[in-house]
Amino acid sequence: MYENYTFKPDEVLEYLRKSRSDDPTLTVEEVLSKHEAILSEWSIRNMDAAVPEEHIYREVVSGETIADRPEMIKLLKMIENPRIRGVLVVEVQRLSRGDLEDAGRIIKLFRYTNTMIITPMKIYNLHDEYDRDMFERELKRGNEFLEYQKKIMNRGRLLSVSQGNYVGSVPPYGYDRTVVMDGKRKCPTLKINEEQASVVRMIFDLYVNHDMGRQKICNHLDELHIKPPKGTHWSPETVVDMLSNVHYTGKVKWNWRKTVTVIENQEAVKTRPKSKDGDFLIYDGKHEAIISDELFEAAQAKKGRNHRAKPTTKVRNPLAGLVYCSCGRAMSLRYYKRPDGTERSAPRLMCDGQFRCNTGSCRYSEILIRVNDILECSIADFEVQLKNDDALSTDLHKKMISQLEVKLEDLKNKEINQWEKYSEEGMPKEIFDKLNEKVLKEQADVSAALAQARASMPSPVDYQERINCFTDALEALNDDSIDAEKKNILLKNCIDRITYSRERPVRMVGAGHHGTWTDTPINLEVKLRL
Ligand SMILES: [Zn+2]
Repeated sequence: MYENYTFKPDEVLEYLRKSRSDDPTLTVEEVLSKHEAILSEWSIRNMDAAVPEEHIYREVVSGETIADRPEMIKLLKMIENPRIRGVLVVEVQRLSRGDLEDAGRIIKLFRYTNTMIITPMKIYNLHDEYDRDMFERELKRGNEFLEYQKKIMNRGRLLSVSQGNYVGSVPPYGYDRTVVMDGKRKCPTLKINEEQASVVRMIFDLYVNHDMGRQKICNHLDELHIKPPKGTHWSPETVVDMLSNVHYTGKVKWNWRKTVTVIENQEAVKTRPKSKDGDFLIYDGKHEAIISDELFEAAQAKKGRNHRAKPTTKVRNPLAGLVYCSCGRAMSLRYYKRPDGTERSAPRLMCDGQFRCNTGSCRYSEILIRVNDILECSIADFEVQLKNDDALSTDLHKKMISQLEVKLEDLKNKEINQWEKYSEEGMPKEIFDKLNEKVLKEQADVSAALAQARASMPSPVDYQERINCFTDALEALNDDSIDAEKKNILLKNCIDRITYSRERPVRMVGAGHHGTWTDTPINLEVKLRL
């Protein structure tokens, strides 16, 4: 249809009016400026220029009838000018809404002044019978009007997004909504919420630079008592959504995700299914970025990998797999760095589910000192045992066994003597039976004691070997040139498990404390590998 008609910008008038069907939360100015953007997009595409300002009629105070619309009255006068060939509106209903008298008047005026009605969807030439029919039907359209309006609205929203505006009703976490002026036009956009933005930066930093997974990031944020965007705890889904939110790089996104009506429990429910890749368009936004493109890309690359498999994860904590919280969860090493990589505070060892079990964390250096002590004490202990204690106890045990062996031998000889006396020396049977019963019982008792003594013989501990092993681990732990993985292997040769517990410190109040924390003791239960 467009091909049949060409216009010059000064041959066209533009008419803008808010109607009842527009979003009631928007002001007249907001609606008109959206519509103006749609129409100027059309003008530039079809006439290479926008309609001149003096040809634009903005109905700010509007009634339903033409008589109540001062700008409309001016416009209808203007179309009597033969130079004017068309009136541009977002849709025909902007000219009149179904009032038959008004509609008839408009049709007559446009028809006899040879003025076309131009909408982005279609151009109506009212000399043409078919177009006239269409136009009348459009004006009278009632129920379908809102659907049509939504289409227009979406066009307006897409246009707004393509201009870098943020059109969503809820700002992404890290931003607040705001309005900036672009010429005369109010543009909705985002401004950084510094408090939230620092959390966003922390999430990207932990994820990309500190190899922390989603759940760990959530636990970490909960520990710091950072309020999540919704609910009481951070959820991995929220973190994942944030890690892929392009708004943080200063972009805006137009989502093709449509509202779909589905039937659930015999009720129609509107849902917005998650969009697939490629279902959206990305434009440069008017707002400031929180995350650099490089960091954002690194997060995307990382998300693409399979997190569960972790084939190349390097051990960064020498105590990995050794220290467990009293609640049963592993204790993890946490680093606290600023986005530029410098240390914000000393690394800490912390239960993976701390916000649930409420165990106090401790500085990593504190636990290293304690492990160091454990190794040193064990070595000293082994040296003592190597010298005397244990060798002695093994000897005693051996002596006891040989004594029992001698005793059993004696009892066997005793029994043989009894048989000799009974058969060769004529011992009375009643006496032999009594003596024999007694010696057999004694033999049984000694045999049982011997069996038990042999079974409980301590397995010889090679204390020299243990001393060497613990010394290796101790030296490695204090040697900065040895990597965490090697330290971890050496420590695991010495220690089976360390169970950690500590009451959560509380902040002290009152003069002189200046908000320092109580120093609750760290309890370690150590199971050595022997
Ligand atoms: Zn715990």
